[in-house]
Amino acid sequence: MCEVLYEGKSKTVCRGPDGGSLILRYRDSATAYNGEKKAELDGKGKLNAAISHKLFGFLEGHGIKTHLLEAQGDTAALVRKADIVMVEVIVRNVAAGSFSKRYGVPEGSELKNTVVEFSLKSDELGDPLICESHITALGLATKEELDEMTRLSLRINDLLCPLFARAGIRLVDFKLEFGRAGGELILCDELSPDSCRFWDIATGEKLDKDRFRRDLGDVLAGYADVLRRLADV
Ligand code: UDP
Repeated sequence: MCEVLYEGKSKTVCRGPDGGSLILRYRDSATAYNGEKKAELDGKGKLNAAISHKLFGFLEGHGIKTHLLEAQGDTAALVRKADIVMVEVIVRNVAAGSFSKRYGVPEGSELKNTVVEFSLKSDELGDPLICESHITALGLATKEELDEMTRLSLRINDLLCPLFARAGIRLVDFKLEFGRAGGELILCDELSPDSCRFWDIATGEKLDKDRFRRDLGDVLAGYADVLRRLADV
């Protein structure tokens, strides 16, 4: 087995074969509400690895630099080591989740523009929403980095929305993480039903982690459906 450097909530980071890379292992652990709700979902790691690798490969093919070097087996990847920006980017096409709750707008409400927001990457503090001047004041990222993260996030959204539409899926919202490597920002972490909201375009059925958060039934049936549909587009 690999030498564990860091154990996250759903992934384990191991030392890579050289100083410039890491091995990322997707586990079956599921957590929600900042770790209050936990479960082991047999096969989740494999599904998330497959979905994330497919999406990162697609984005790479369209000029977005990512940390993914190569998939390793069913549940792991060799990734480029990066200095992770401690700010998460959330992109929203439709109101849902914390946005709906905070502003009192029903889930599914159309938005007049795509929302890009930042949250502090801190489990202890519950990933609070954070604004640009707070981020720069705390030295978490520079103004130039924030502008670049916003530009890349909107470009990723523009690439993913039509891809998911072809799969009959509405890309409601998603979370991105970036890292600094070789003097530029690259897309890190994962893109999976754990970090995105995916709704069936025709029925509105949720195919993502809300199935787990809200006890909506067979969680992994939704994840497997996303992977199956992506195979055809
Ligand atoms: N998200 C995530 N990790 C987080 C917070 C949010 O991957 O720590 C994703 C979440 O799955 C959703 C989007 O970001 O696709 C927006 O989440 P929201 O702010 O609505 O928070 P939630 O409803 O998950 O509390």
